[in-house]
Amino acid sequence: MPDPAAHLPFFYGSISRAEAEDHLKLAGMADGLFLLRQCLRSLGGYVLSLVHDLRFHHFPIERQLNGTYAIAGGKAHCGPAELCEFYSRDPDGLPCNLRKPCNRPSGLEPQPGVFDCLRDAMVRDYVRQTWKLEGEALELAIISQAPQVEKLIATTAHERMPWYHSNLTREEAERKLYSGSQTDGKFLLRPRKEQGTYALSLIYGKTAYHYLISQDKAGKYCIPEGTKFDTLWQLVEYLKLKADGLIYCLKEACPNTSASAGAAAPTLPAHPSTFTNTQRRIDTSNSDGYTPEPACLASPGKPRPMPMDTSVYESPYSDPEELKDKKLFLKRENLIMADIELGCGNFGSVRQGVYRMRKKQIDVAIKVLKHSTEKADKDEMMREAQIMHQLDNPYIVRLIGVCQAEALMLVMEMAGGGPLHKFLIGKKEEIPVSNVAELLHQVSVGMKYLEEKNFVHRDLAARNVLLVNRHYAKISDFGLSKALGADDSYYTARSAGKWPLKWYAPECINFRKFSSRSDVWSYGVTMWEAFSYGQKPYKKMKGPEVMAFIEQGKRMECPPECPPEMYALMNDCWIYKWEDRPDFLAVEQRMRTYYYSLASKVEDPLECGKGAEAASA
Ligand code: ADP
Ligand code: MG
Repeated sequence: MPDPAAHLPFFYGSISRAEAEDHLKLAGMADGLFLLRQCLRSLGGYVLSLVHDLRFHHFPIERQLNGTYAIAGGKAHCGPAELCEFYSRDPDGLPCNLRKPCNRPSGLEPQPGVFDCLRDAMVRDYVRQTWKLEGEALELAIISQAPQVEKLIATTAHERMPWYHSNLTREEAERKLYSGSQTDGKFLLRPRKEQGTYALSLIYGKTAYHYLISQDKAGKYCIPEGTKFDTLWQLVEYLKLKADGLIYCLKEACPNTSASAGAAAPTLPAHPSTFTNTQRRIDTSNSDGYTPEPACLASPGKPRPMPMDTSVYESPYSDPEELKDKKLFLKRENLIMADIELGCGNFGSVRQGVYRMRKKQIDVAIKVLKHSTEKADKDEMMREAQIMHQLDNPYIVRLIGVCQAEALMLVMEMAGGGPLHKFLIGKKEEIPVSNVAELLHQVSVGMKYLEEKNFVHRDLAARNVLLVNRHYAKISDFGLSKALGADDSYYTARSAGKWPLKWYAPECINFRKFSSRSDVWSYGVTMWEAFSYGQKPYKKMKGPEVMAFIEQGKRMECPPECPPEMYALMNDCWIYKWEDRPDFLAVEQRMRTYYYSLASKVEDPLECGKGAEAASA
């Protein structure tokens, strides 16, 4: 997760106080000279180092529970940049205002902190172990869910550390420490009987010392009188660097070997909403009595569902056993169709159903071609199937296969939450901007994949973004999509058709040229639809009026309350010349940075609090 201060030229990352002072000395010690560095003690905190009267002053900046930043006793600010900006205007208790940033010498990057590396490795391990993911699916899960996973593990990660012993008395702890090498600094940590308190046991000079760790009212951990930490693992990491009142600093972990000898791989706490396919198997033994699972978009009281908790995160064919049967054409007898229509279009209707595989049964959406259609329609549907068949990404609706029976049917993964624009209508109060950004970020991940594979979608719009749940979106409707030739960067349509003009870039309309950059234009319109909570783009204007509007250099206005960063990105998607527009590689990066910046602020403390609580249970 990028540090919210990473872009500041006067941010040095994780450097010591002495190093900070060296930088300030080199820069001349003028009054008001300052720099920012990472705080070792608090998760997400900083230290402001300032020169006044040829002396150094260091002010810790804490990140508060609501995601704001403040110097103790000072005003809260929404980010480290805003805080520095404020103190440059008003000293507000500091010896002087911030006058001159002590910028990093060119070529010097901010120093990554112990926790940055540790956290990345932990997020990776957690996702891998909890959802049993590998390869691309693992990478994408990390990219799309890092902030959520981070919150979840922040409070429970110590449980998987080798130094943590979940069930040990004081005597047993001493026995463990004394057995084997009695090196100074060998330590372990154990919970005490008294709820919420722990003991740190440490050996020094062949004697065991025990320190009480308690939590203050805000939930921070500390050894009485000592430095306070958000998590137990940070406390341990800090005490490895600095004794901070202990008899000696922590060195070697006295490992928890209660698990089977040798491979005592500690397991991470299970994410509570993880379930296996067997648990959620649908009973299809009696197709008449089949009632489909209702699309669950909100789950009050339950921890937030993550994409990886659903059965549609990985391909149903990711299991090698199932892969053996993978063919484009499916057998009708394995398909059960329910009498529920999910949607309809020119081609016919989309119905809900279940597809029986070797080891499992999966919910599917079945696009049924209406009767009495011409060969051209069949060919068109087969072309859509051919495109979808080549795609496999968590943020794209996957094709399971095609079934030719009473009608031609396209069998797809189920995304039962409906189209994005319909879901958002009237939900301004309920769905925060961060949730919208999360879904749009996922769409950008799916589009980046399409761009890499050299496919153009040609119909990206909020109506073709389907939800699995409130926090999980998939791109659908490949009816107009094309695979580009290996050396082509665009597709030229032979003639104009029934086109969604309001979503099309100028070169599509003027020259029938379609590329990933014209998909980027459509992505901008999709963003506008989402941030305006399902409004129709360009109001009542007709296609040709929109074209004239664009040619005049005009663009849609910023939707009310749409964050400026997001409106700026929309406008970049609507750069007239396609060569000057960002590609999806850049769009995804910007969406990610923005979404992480929001997600790192605790928006709904109840939601993530519950998740963490259940996870540690
Ligand atoms: P069209 O080409 O007519 O726009 P779509 O592929 O967009 O067809 O599907 C039309 C509607 O059917 C969607 O808006 C949605 O409500 C429903 N639908 C399509 N695919 C799925 C799916 N995989 N899961 C759930 N509903 C779907
Ligand atoms: Mg559609």
